[in-house]
Amino acid sequence: MELLKHRIALRWRRTKIVATLGPASSERKVIEDLLKAGVDVVRLNMSHGTHEAHRAVYARVRAAAKKLDRQVAIFADLCGPKIRCGKFPDGPLKLTPGQEVIIDPRVDKGGPGLIASQYKAIARDVQPGHRILLDDGNLELKALAIEGERIRCKVVFGGLLKEHKGINLPDSKVSASSLPPKDIADAKFAIELGVDYLALSFVRTAKDVAGLRRLIARAGADTPIIAKIETPEAMENIEAIVQASDAIMVARGDLGIEMPAEQVPLIQRELIRLGRRHNRAVIVATQMLESMIDHSRPTRAEVGDVANAALTGADAVMLSAETASGKYPLRAVQMMDSVLREVEGYQWQQGSFLAGEALGGGELSLRDGVANAATALAHDLRLQGIILPTRSGTTARVISSHRPTAPLVAVSTDAAVCRRLSLNWGIVPLTASKSEYANWETLCRQIARKCDLTRTGHSVLLVAGFSDDAAHNAPLLKILRV
Ligand code: PGA
Ligand code: MN
Repeated sequence: MELLKHRIALRWRRTKIVATLGPASSERKVIEDLLKAGVDVVRLNMSHGTHEAHRAVYARVRAAAKKLDRQVAIFADLCGPKIRCGKFPDGPLKLTPGQEVIIDPRVDKGGPGLIASQYKAIARDVQPGHRILLDDGNLELKALAIEGERIRCKVVFGGLLKEHKGINLPDSKVSASSLPPKDIADAKFAIELGVDYLALSFVRTAKDVAGLRRLIARAGADTPIIAKIETPEAMENIEAIVQASDAIMVARGDLGIEMPAEQVPLIQRELIRLGRRHNRAVIVATQMLESMIDHSRPTRAEVGDVANAALTGADAVMLSAETASGKYPLRAVQMMDSVLREVEGYQWQQGSFLAGEALGGGELSLRDGVANAATALAHDLRLQGIILPTRSGTTARVISSHRPTAPLVAVSTDAAVCRRLSLNWGIVPLTASKSEYANWETLCRQIARKCDLTRTGHSVLLVAGFSDDAAHNAPLLKILRV
C-alpha cells in the first residue's frame, strides 16, 4: 500500500487525550511523564480519593504544565446520582452464581454475603425481579425480595467484586437527586481549586445541567460543564442537554449497561456529529485501552476503537483506570498517541479529517458559513495554519468543529480560556499579553514565527470575531503572508 509507505508525521496531534489520574499516576514524576507523552486534559475522579489527595495532584499537574510550558486543562468529575457499593475491608468479595447476597444501605462495609450500598433509597427503587448490575455490568444479581431497607438477591453472573464499584439498575426508576450532597461539596471544592471544567455524571435532563450551572454561578465562577451521557433518559433529551452544556462525554461504561451495548457505537457516532453541530467538544470515554490496566499491549480491538473515534471526529479520547490505577499508565498514553497519529497522518494525506462528512446542510448560520469558507480556503491555498485570536474561545471552537486540515492556533490573553481550549479538536492554545493582542496582524506574524509556520511563499489565515450572541457576530478573514 503506497499510503503506508509514505507516512506523514503531523507536528500536532488533532484528537486530544484525556487521562484520569489516580494511585498509579499521582507522583510528580509520573504526571510529568504523562504530560510529556501528550496528555492534554487531566481528569480528577471525585468518586475516589480525598479532597486533600485531589488538591495535591491538582497542584502537581499545574506545576508540571508550567515547567513543560504546556496548556493543560483539569476537570473534576462529579459522581452524580451514581450508585456505588461500599467497602470490603477484607478484600474483594467473591460472588458465585446461585448464591444469595444481601444489599444493605445502612452499613458501609460489606463482607461474605453482604454488599453495602452508598445509595440509601435503593430498596425503594428496586422491585423483585429487577436486575442489579455490578462493576460495569460484569456481575449480575437478580432481586428476590425487599426486606425493609435491604434487598435479598441471587447471583446470576458471578466473579470478584472490588469495593466502591458501580451499581446499575437498568430495570428500576432511580429517584436519586441529580446533585447529591457529596456532589455539591465536591463541586464547591473543585471550583475553589480552580478546575477548568466540571463533569456531571448521569445527566438526565437539561435541568440537571442548569442546576450545576446555578451552583457554579453562586460560587462566583463560570466553570464550563461537561455533561456525561450515560442513561436512556439523557438520550431522550439530548438536544437540550447538548445546548445546556459546554462539552459532552460519551460515557460508554454506564451507557452500555443502561442501554443495549450494541447501540453504543452508533450513539457515539451521532453524539460526535451533534457536538460538532453545536460547537461542543465530545469526549469518547471508557475501556478504550482497558486491557492495558494489566498488560503492556492493548488488544487489536482496542486499537481499532481508538482509531474509530479519531476517524469519526471525536474531539478527545479518554483513559480511565488505564492511567489511574493500571500497571502501564505511560505506555497507555503513548499507545493512544501513536494510534491517533497514525490515523491522523492518513486522514491528512486523504485531504480531510472528516471522512467526507461536511458540517450541516441547508442554510448555515453566518459563522458556520464563514467557518466553512475558512476551512476551504486554508485547504485550497495550502495555508500554513489558521490563527484565531479569541476572547472567550468561541471563534476557535467554531472553526475547530469544521475540522480543517490546517493547524489551528488559538490565541487569548486569558490563560483559563487557553486551558479550556486544550479539550477541543485540533486547537493549539497560546497565551498572549494584552499589548501583543492589540495588533492582530503583528501578533499573527509573531505566532507564525513562534510555531514555525513560515515556509517562504506561504501564508496563514487569520480568523476572528465570532460571538455566541448572533447580534455580535462580526467575522473577519484575512490572508497574511508570513
Ligand atoms: P465513570 O464515567 O467512569 O465515572 O463511570 C464514565 C462512564 O460511565 O463511561
Ligand atoms: Mn459513568
